[in-house]
Amino acid sequence: MKRREEEMDRIRESVAGCAACALAQSRTFAVPGEGSLTPKFVLVGEAPGKDEDACGRPFVGRCGKVLRTALEACQVDPDDVFICNAVKCRPSRPDNPMKDRPPEIGEMRPCSGFLRRQLLCLAGDGSGWARRTVPVLAVGRTALRWFVEFAAPEAGAAARFPRTESGWKLLSVTSLVEASASGAPNVFRMEGDDGTPVRFEVYPIWHPGYVLNGGGGRVTRGVFAGTMRTIVGRMLAEGPLAERPLAGA
Ligand code: SF4
Repeated sequence: MKRREEEMDRIRESVAGCAACALAQSRTFAVPGEGSLTPKFVLVGEAPGKDEDACGRPFVGRCGKVLRTALEACQVDPDDVFICNAVKCRPSRPDNPMKDRPPEIGEMRPCSGFLRRQLLCLAGDGSGWARRTVPVLAVGRTALRWFVEFAAPEAGAAARFPRTESGWKLLSVTSLVEASASGAPNVFRMEGDDGTPVRFEVYPIWHPGYVLNGGGGRVTRGVFAGTMRTIVGRMLAEGPLAERPLAGA
């Protein structure tokens, strides 16, 4: 546990001092992430918004309220989850700096090592780097894109994420539920092909911002909450992260 705390402290300090992309110039605070170091699961969003940038904490604005409320409705205390983003500083629109925008690939790439280190750190057992299956709730398209593009270089991501940075490969994609009007969360089983003995089950869900903006006329708050219940139930059915053995190990 001490080793995990020390590694997380190092990551936090590195993020706070990072100037590897242009977002460093416009940020108020970098937002490395926070939460339990023995989490029930890891929640990965896309990037901080205006509210998060102002205080350095993830998911504290309107979107965060929707997300945290949905977690609590599933009897999950957000403090029992590790919450972070794929990109650690806020991207804003050049034509209107008050508005948030999704991060670009040129911002995801230099930032990718931080999330990778966080996931590997959380997959350890505190006394060494044990083999673990890490359940991840990927909130929004960018978070899912981080995993899929790292995991599927054959899809063309290799040129954008050099092999030395990624090292993930896609093992399988399993449909958790049949496709429906509410969308079908999938399970991405991945592991490092660079000798990293970690496997991720990545459960995608819509970003709360999409829900707040009308959800394309179909993803209401009720649909969001119901899908969250399905996913969280599945993730927790196999026990907390620290107790999950690597399937097939
Ligand atoms: S977004 Fe990531 S890579 Fe860019 S400055 Fe912030 S921490 Fe560094």
